[in-house]
Amino acid sequence: MQTEVLEEPKVLQEVLSHLSRPALPGVLRIQQGIVRATHDFMFKRGLTQLMPLMLSPITDPLNHGVVDASIPYADKRWSLTKSMIFHKQLALMHPDLDSIYIVSPNVRLEFSDRAQTGRHLFEFTQIDFEFKNKDRFYVMDFMEDLVNFVFARLNEELPELLLEIRDELLPLYEKWPVYRTEKLEAALGPDYEMIQSQLLDTPYWLLNHKREFYDKEDQMRPGTYFNYDLVWPEGFGEGLSGAERENEYKQLLKRMTETGANKEIFKDYLEVAKRGELPRTAGAGFGVERMTRFICRLQDINDVTVFQRRPGHASIF
Ligand code: AMP
Ligand code: MG
Repeated sequence: MQTEVLEEPKVLQEVLSHLSRPALPGVLRIQQGIVRATHDFMFKRGLTQLMPLMLSPITDPLNHGVVDASIPYADKRWSLTKSMIFHKQLALMHPDLDSIYIVSPNVRLEFSDRAQTGRHLFEFTQIDFEFKNKDRFYVMDFMEDLVNFVFARLNEELPELLLEIRDELLPLYEKWPVYRTEKLEAALGPDYEMIQSQLLDTPYWLLNHKREFYDKEDQMRPGTYFNYDLVWPEGFGEGLSGAERENEYKQLLKRMTETGANKEIFKDYLEVAKRGELPRTAGAGFGVERMTRFICRLQDINDVTVFQRRPGHASIF
């Protein structure tokens, strides 16, 4: 009897060739090096690691729309984690916890207009960290130290692989340049962040973004915010966002009204703030795949993944 040979569906073939491409193991090795070195750095600097949460009645509202990813459970709606921002603030209510970090899976069902940016996945890992009673300057210095620590460690542990993947070892940076969004925009136009990223060969800080209600507003200059982004150079774009956090009840209410956040969903969080129990904190989170992409000089962030997570594209595994 003749057996029928079925032609493999195209999507299956695509997925299988993605997960077996020759460059993948080296990229994964670099990514592993990043995470290992980051753990070491966090440990040396005294941060306590928390395990990630994947479900919560509250999660990051983000400053852009995504497809809803929530499920019903125990008479509530639980959202898949977009970031653990609120949990970081709440965890730091413990009197003996001063600094924490989490290797945190984030699900953000980005719309398909982000499919070709080279920077967006609909599921990724963020290394999220937060300090009690520290300010933006502390966090920015911390991140600069972290990057140099991780890069030096990779140069030491994986020099041959780095030379193969990116033709040179990783640079160690002096202090990063700092810019303000409004000034760069005035100088370079609406695409200022990316233009500046293409012009530089060092990461830079971009201050003052108008975005989520949990970033602290400057009371001396309303409408400006104590937040900061790390932007990778060579056109790789944003790699981290962070801020001093809003912890005052009245100011949270004001900012939630301005950003259109749903106060009902956040009522218990607001109650903690109303009691004056939300600590004063500052922190940030960086995308692991974006750091890997920058180090490996990959155009498409999907080339960091084993299983493609391109916004809007169906995958089978
Ligand atoms: P955010 O606080 O929204 O800026 O997210 C923190 C960091 O996570 C960003 O700076 C990126 O490095 C990374 N990130 C955010 N969204 C995505 C995404 N859709 N795909 C991959 N990485 C992302
Ligand atoms: Mg951001």
